[in-house]
Amino acid sequence: MAHNPRQAFRTRAVHAGHGLDPATGAHATPIYATSTFGYGNAARGERLFAGQEEGYFYSRLTNPTVRAFERKVADLEGLDDAVAFASGMGAVSAVCLTLLQPGDEVIFVAPLYGGTTGFLHEVATKFGVVVHEAADETAMDALIGPRTRLIWVETPTNPRLNIVDLGWVARSAQAAGALTVVDNTFSTPALTRPAEHGIDLVMHSATKYLGGHGDAIGGVVAARADLLAELRGVGLRHVGASLGPFEAYLFLRGMKTLPLRMAAHCEGAQALALALKGHPGLKTVLYPGLPEHPGHEVAARQMSGFGGLVSVELESRAAAMAFADELQLFTQAVSLGDVESLICHPASTTHALLGEEALLRQGVTPGLVRLSVGIEDSADLIDDVLRALDRVPVAHD
Ligand SMILES: *Cc1c(COP(=O)(O)O)cnc(C)c1O
Repeated sequence: MAHNPRQAFRTRAVHAGHGLDPATGAHATPIYATSTFGYGNAARGERLFAGQEEGYFYSRLTNPTVRAFERKVADLEGLDDAVAFASGMGAVSAVCLTLLQPGDEVIFVAPLYGGTTGFLHEVATKFGVVVHEAADETAMDALIGPRTRLIWVETPTNPRLNIVDLGWVARSAQAAGALTVVDNTFSTPALTRPAEHGIDLVMHSATKYLGGHGDAIGGVVAARADLLAELRGVGLRHVGASLGPFEAYLFLRGMKTLPLRMAAHCEGAQALALALKGHPGLKTVLYPGLPEHPGHEVAARQMSGFGGLVSVELESRAAAMAFADELQLFTQAVSLGDVESLICHPASTTHALLGEEALLRQGVTPGLVRLSVGIEDSADLIDDVLRALDRVPVAHD
């Protein structure tokens, strides 16, 4: 179905990217479980390979189920096209391996997802790429130079939910002739469309909110047509982290309810943050929807809701772990964006390998926990959290 900007986001979330299956009239997009596609005749095979005719010939490159998912993401992000990958990290590596060459410089506004930072520092540098880390937008501006090729940001960031000003990043990059990448996993196009702020490439771990049900791993990148063709021709074709049609089907299904789920996540997170604010067992409540959050003003400008993640800081590592153990509705697990609520203690799990200095710099304190608020009734979630906080033993030292 063609992009129709006159239709509202909720309508496009349901309809964009697919129509009735041309072969059978199937209403739901079929799972095209096939590796290869017959050309029909030798001359058509030649045209397909030469790129003179559009069509499917091998599922590492394109598959009809995957294509429907890609089209839906492109439509919702307001960009020309998208390309899907087997994971968020597949998307990250394809973007870097496609767009960077020796001598190029990458600047990222810290923190980024640990895997992305790991790829930049441990893989991209092997190919002669220079990687710079900036603490904020001002530090980013100071690092921009003639070799800057890519600027990479994430907003809100993990786990303190810092907000990065996308308009600022896009303006600085454009002035320097650099490309911008936004990892939009935490916000989703239901809340922020980075392209509207001038960002070039928008990527996702579809594993999180796009899928929304915690049942599939995948990634996707949306961009304008010329960049996308390069990504598909190099990053997908030669690196090969292609999304399978089964996962694409789950993501398509999940994305139809993305706006409804995001509204419920935002409502639950806002209610939880307000209920926890000032609680004597907590040192801090971090949520971009609270007016005292340092990123609140920028978030209010560039997001249409403040997201489903809330981070809170308890007195100590022991208190944080006891709190997590007392919760009943929040599953202790990594990942986020599922309909079920999840809780993660970054210092002992996702961020455990960072040195003490890096933990401190990123504000990953021993008492910090990150809550991914699901779509359960917010009163039940608040009850669960308050009850767990009541049961955390008070330290006597
Ligand atoms: C999970 C995540 C990734 C990596 O995605 P995978 O699907 O796990 O490979 C990248 N960026 C962010 C912000 C994430 O949360």
